[in-house]
Amino acid sequence: MRILVTGGTGFIGSHTVVELLNENYEVVVIDDFSNSKPDVVDKIKTITNKEFKFYEGNVCDKELLQIIFKENKIDAVIHFAGFKAVGESVQKPLMYYRNNLDSTLTLCEVMNANNVKNIVFSSSATVYGNPKGLPIKETFPTGETTNPYGATKVMIERILKDIYISDNTWNIALLRYFNPIGAHKSGLIGENPNDIPNNLMPYIVKVATKELKELNIFGNDYDTVDGTGVRDYIHVVDLAKGHIKAIEWVLKNNGIDAFNLGTGNGYSVLELVNAFKKYNNVDVPYKIVGRREGDIGSCYADVSYAKEKLGWESKYDIEDMVKDSYNFVKNSTLHM
Ligand code: UDP
Repeated sequence: MRILVTGGTGFIGSHTVVELLNENYEVVVIDDFSNSKPDVVDKIKTITNKEFKFYEGNVCDKELLQIIFKENKIDAVIHFAGFKAVGESVQKPLMYYRNNLDSTLTLCEVMNANNVKNIVFSSSATVYGNPKGLPIKETFPTGETTNPYGATKVMIERILKDIYISDNTWNIALLRYFNPIGAHKSGLIGENPNDIPNNLMPYIVKVATKELKELNIFGNDYDTVDGTGVRDYIHVVDLAKGHIKAIEWVLKNNGIDAFNLGTGNGYSVLELVNAFKKYNNVDVPYKIVGRREGDIGSCYADVSYAKEKLGWESKYDIEDMVKDSYNFVKNSTLHM
């Protein structure tokens, strides 16, 4: 089986390509390096000792996609490519809507023309907005998102549903990620944004390595265990393995369905910071500041549906997550 992975050198994409190669899938990747570095291609090959085909370019480029489908017999697509910074999406909504929607429409048109109708889409728990309860089930309402990034995820889910309604030979898995952290055990691939990070774990790591002075904790007056925000952090390798199960599912089934990929456990910001300090034996200075606009207090998944339908569940715990996150950044700073 040959899988096209869009955005295959990004954080989740690169870990998924590793797992696909480990499972002996043929892999074709398209990425424009808009939020990743070219050396990831070789690092994936080093980790797996396997080859894959790489095309540099943007998924909105229809001609390039047509070439890829002509040159490779694709059986299914995992679609990661897209902009993902929440704050930036508020500043640059047109850029987010244009890129994330256009790339998906172009991809689906070319898939349709080539009679490839199996797709796994990289969605997000952000589609639930302020969830109606906890833990979050796939059947909860979606759509009340608070920023353009989240809106693109909701819109793309809707587009894919409409494609399925028009042609029920499509097989579509919508994967709603909770909060991916951690990195590959090799320390070769992981998440290390160039700019000041928006997300918690990359920020903690930069404070631990003294690149940033202290962590700002956004609010300690939520209705949670210690007042700080609670999220469902999941190891990126677990998440990557979820994509293998989702690919198996789309290759076997007809239909469209959504799956939460999380651990089912919520950790507060302070709990995560304390675990990071304890297991890495390093200091993470922080101060409490006001709430961040658009944030919710708690968000964690009901993971029973993914377990039942995909036969997937997370394996790594918080110790693996904080150690692997730090290990990757220490390792990449060493080799710079
Ligand atoms: N957070 C924080 N300081 C930061 C970044 C995040 O206190 O510098 C908190 C944030 O308020 C939330 C949690 O950490 O409670 C996770 O935030 P992140 O942006 O990583 O994920 P999301 O909010 O999208 O779930």
